[in-house]
Amino acid sequence: MARAMKTRTARRGVSPRGASASVRKESHGWAVRRAGGLQIVESRALAKLGWLVHGFSTRPGGDSVVDGKPALNLGFTDWDERARVEKNRAAFSAALRAREMPLVALRQFHSDVIHLVSAPPTPAEEAPRADALAARVPGLLLGVQTADCVPILLADTRHRAVAAVHAGWRGTLARIAVKALGRMRMEFGTRPQDVVAAIGPAIGRCCYEVGSEVAQAFAMQFPAAADWFDGPFEQLSHGEEPLWLPWLTMMPPGHVPPPPRVQLDLRAANRWQLADAGVPESQIDVSDLCTACRPDLLFSYRQEGAKTGRMMAAIGVRGGK
Ligand SMILES: [Zn+2]
Repeated sequence: MARAMKTRTARRGVSPRGASASVRKESHGWAVRRAGGLQIVESRALAKLGWLVHGFSTRPGGDSVVDGKPALNLGFTDWDERARVEKNRAAFSAALRAREMPLVALRQFHSDVIHLVSAPPTPAEEAPRADALAARVPGLLLGVQTADCVPILLADTRHRAVAAVHAGWRGTLARIAVKALGRMRMEFGTRPQDVVAAIGPAIGRCCYEVGSEVAQAFAMQFPAAADWFDGPFEQLSHGEEPLWLPWLTMMPPGHVPPPPRVQLDLRAANRWQLADAGVPESQIDVSDLCTACRPDLLFSYRQEGAKTGRMMAAIGVRGGK
């Protein structure tokens, strides 16, 4: 997969001077666009589609306060006031130039449940319990919230249908992105070869430590799993963890053995799943922004705990007017 990304970067060949002054380039064709005091991370592959609205929110700006600084918290967390979050969501919509598009958000629970949206939500309606949204109705904004988990946006360029997916390790294990594709196929006739996918900012392989139970669960589900882990994946996934203890006590003082943990690359796992389901690799755009490495730009639950904010990844089909 690194191969494909390098090729794309090399082929880019766009002069930075040619880009708009308000857009700062990230690697692999991703950009951070400034709008209304906010910074919106955009996938170049999705930004090319004129019928589409999309964006990944970031931390700076907003009406909430995290660590004494203004923050764009877009989730109804225990510590924040509902009115502030609603104001932040309105600012995010405006920054996406989608002020008139009602936002459909979810009460997420690390499931593989996909909610189909066929009409704008009524004001009194409670957010549906699910971890992905799909729609073909123009004029609606679909949003999933994350603060380490992987946000995935899907666009069917043939039928002009979209989906937003929240994939933590449980959702990834349950193949939620592929199930969203399947739901789009069922509802809209979506074919994987017509889909452009953007896998947004999430906790990276550099920072996402997991234990043997996660390694084992992935090893059982995916033949390619070893590619997504750093560290003693083979030992941990084969349940050899007890062997670590005697080895540890044999180590001379001052020699710290590698901890019996592995690091998981959730974005690589989701990229593999989408490609395996038939989405061409050249149409899968993966951000390399790590939530835990970039507290200046992003929220990280792992890094900051329950007091941190939530980001939102949103996608929608523009109204036909
Ligand atoms: Zn990191």
